[in-house]
Amino acid sequence: MNIILLGPPGAGKGTQARKLVDERKMIQLSTGDMLREAKDSGTEMGKIVADVMARGDLVTDEIVIGLIREKLEAGNSGGGYIFDGFPRTLAQADALGSLLGDLNEPLDAVIEMRVNDEALVQRITARSTCGSCGEVYNDHTKPIPADGKCSNCGGTEFKRRSDDNEESLRTRLLAYYKQTSPLIGYYYAKGDLETVDGMGEMDAVAAEISDLLNG
Ligand code: AMP
Repeated sequence: MNIILLGPPGAGKGTQARKLVDERKMIQLSTGDMLREAKDSGTEMGKIVADVMARGDLVTDEIVIGLIREKLEAGNSGGGYIFDGFPRTLAQADALGSLLGDLNEPLDAVIEMRVNDEALVQRITARSTCGSCGEVYNDHTKPIPADGKCSNCGGTEFKRRSDDNEESLRTRLLAYYKQTSPLIGYYYAKGDLETVDGMGEMDAVAAEISDLLNG
């Protein structure tokens, strides 16, 4: 089963993808994570995308489609792919359709996670992740444990994303509404779109997604 998680920054795509990886042995393909990795390891491509990402703009279709193509062509779809943060433009959506078609892989569902903008600002400016396992924390709703150890892996290093600030977030939200939200209509017209209420508790959202996938 291959699915897309679609929603603005802070909707909870990464958190839900991690749960699906744990519970269903699916493979998470997050272009944001791949780009951050390239940036942190200082590759040529990483250097090219660093400024764009810091501003909150989208990197070129060519780069992200290339990253996804590489992963898909390497095979090992496990329990299926979760596309997290990809596609973000209509050109990327078309490219993904062709790539999956070439591999005879279906696209089973596109799950739109709906949240309000107020919540996004709150979630993003309060978010941190475990440097070892990527567990997501929130200063208000899920603070880092008092003993300073990650509840998932015991790691003691936590990171905040440099683009999780109000200025970059404004640009990221604009990019979402301008370039990515048209995908909602695109997948609706194809009959692939499902919507969940992303404002609920993490487990409630996970249950809603699970019901859809089992449905
Ligand atoms: P994310 O972790 O999904 O929030 O992505 C972080 C940043 O990486 C975005 O603000 C963009 O600059 C870039 N990025 C990630 N995925 C894509 C994509 N599919 N298309 C263009 N840019 C992307």
